[in-house]
Amino acid sequence: MPVPVYYMDSRSRSAKTSSIAKIRALLAKVVESAPEAVRTGDLCAIKIHFGELGNDAYISPVFARAASDAARAGGAKPFFTDTNTLYTGSRSNAVDHLETAIAHGFVPEVCGAPVIIADGIQSNDWREVALSGDCTRLKSAKIAGGILDADSMIVLSHVKGHEMAGFGGAIKNLAMGCAPFVGKREQHCVKFQVKDAKCIACGQCVSVCPTGAATLQKVKGEKASINQEACIGCGECMTVCAPKAIGMDWEVGIEEFTEKMTEYALGAITGKKDRLIFVSIVQKVVPLCDCVPWSDVPVVPDIGFLASTDPVAIDQAAFDLVKAATVWPGSALDGKAGPGDDKFTAMHPNTRSELQLSHGERIGLGTRDYELVRI
Ligand code: SF4
Ligand code: SF4
Repeated sequence: MPVPVYYMDSRSRSAKTSSIAKIRALLAKVVESAPEAVRTGDLCAIKIHFGELGNDAYISPVFARAASDAARAGGAKPFFTDTNTLYTGSRSNAVDHLETAIAHGFVPEVCGAPVIIADGIQSNDWREVALSGDCTRLKSAKIAGGILDADSMIVLSHVKGHEMAGFGGAIKNLAMGCAPFVGKREQHCVKFQVKDAKCIACGQCVSVCPTGAATLQKVKGEKASINQEACIGCGECMTVCAPKAIGMDWEVGIEEFTEKMTEYALGAITGKKDRLIFVSIVQKVVPLCDCVPWSDVPVVPDIGFLASTDPVAIDQAAFDLVKAATVWPGSALDGKAGPGDDKFTAMHPNTRSELQLSHGERIGLGTRDYELVRI
């Protein structure tokens, strides 16, 4: 039987149909369908991405308020949460991360709940959880303590592209977003190389590399170089390299990365059977993750808002809506894709977006069989 994914489109014609009113209405609908998901006295984690400093496509704290209000209406004590990043940016420890969240408006007066970084000050707060026997890549996953300690969870995801995952939605939000450094490393199982001819020695890769693996080498005529022993495969150097001088062995690594990531999403919901609500914002569908310190033009016009209790169903619905959309003129996909094309593969040709969905279904994370219910 198909799982309902509740949907409202982005068009608004009155205050009653404002974006905020829609997110509240969708949350009310999904809570009505799953009244036991958030209960009185719960410590309710609202998993969100606060956005890297410089990015402006992350979910607005004004939208996020709808989630904390819904949790409080159910008698819960909500808190907003995310984990520290592997790369050296504005969210690589809990102090910088909190300051970034505050700079982006995530203060209780706006979003309605405190921010708690789930894996602690330096990402040492985590526990190992066993994965189901259907998982083929991993037997266990390392998940942040603040996620495991929460009684229930509302997962607020911004749908967008991603350099390695292709599609970024609820599965990716759970998988990378609930894992400490060591868990993120375990998922990033690929290696990267510099193509000398394209490298302009800008040093961007060196500044984001968390391990010092990327360096500028004078002996190579001032080109970047990656020490394969020190590289942990986080992919941040590739993300920030404007001339696309950094590549990975896609044939070897991408399937394993995608499947491990999906298995981590299963680990992130350990102990929360029937205690989960997912809301996805299908607006500002930009080519790259909110981890980058900038935001490009969205590749499709704003689509709308989704809510469900199933992470695979909501991701499948978002993927299908973006696939059906027209391309935004002047965006990265202008002239490269159209209605009916997989926009995520068009943006990131070597990635395996749909493998997140098929592997997610295979390991019991959720179902691809959904019914889009317009409210
Ligand atoms: S970011 Fe790219 S172009 Fe810049 S130094 Fe690194 S590899 Fe070279
Ligand atoms: S060189 Fe390796 S560790 Fe450094 S940023 Fe690139 S992928 Fe990450």
